[in-house]
Amino acid sequence: MRPTPFIIGSLLAAMSFASAAHDHADHGHDEHKHEDKHDHDHDHGHDSLSAHEHGVGSLNLVVDGNDVSIELDSPADNLLGFEYLPTSDADKAKVKALRTQLNEAEALFVFPAAADCSLKEVELNSPLFDAVADEHGHDHDHGEKEKAAEAHADIQAHFHFTCTQAAKLDQIQVALFSAFPGTERLLLQAIGPKGQQGGELTAAQNLIRF
Ligand SMILES: [Zn+2]
Repeated sequence: MRPTPFIIGSLLAAMSFASAAHDHADHGHDEHKHEDKHDHDHDHGHDSLSAHEHGVGSLNLVVDGNDVSIELDSPADNLLGFEYLPTSDADKAKVKALRTQLNEAEALFVFPAAADCSLKEVELNSPLFDAVADEHGHDHDHGEKEKAAEAHADIQAHFHFTCTQAAKLDQIQVALFSAFPGTERLLLQAIGPKGQQGGELTAAQNLIRF
């Protein structure tokens, strides 16, 4: 059964709303950047209204016929252990390794073999990826200004899978927790073959069942 366009529209609207709220929350965070820099504990637990809480990310998933679209929105810290723009070779290498790991998303989302799903496309968005994207052997200094402005940074990833036997798609295992131990919780919003569901995923509860 395919979700109606209306439901998909609502979810997308909810997603853009969440994203707008997130931007707003980020601004609030900038005010705290001094504090964060000093104690280095990155504990945003007191700020319950903030979408940018270290350890917590969001996962939006839509199954539409044979297509599975997954959107991950995560503080960079959860995936990398830092959020500043990389300038050292070591940090740039970490960001590039993360980019490779996210591009190999078959290891991050485990589908039932019978559903015959394969990864079609990955889109990544983050100021941290931008910082390692335009290296042509000459130095840019435009990054420095952005670095000063960013106390926190997010990573958005969109994964698109297709399944030839979508009727066999009864669950998806989210392997992000073992791949990225800094990720403690993912807030899930999903539209599966049987309807809408939400909840929280953790290392101990990493199965989305349809
Ligand atoms: Zn942060």
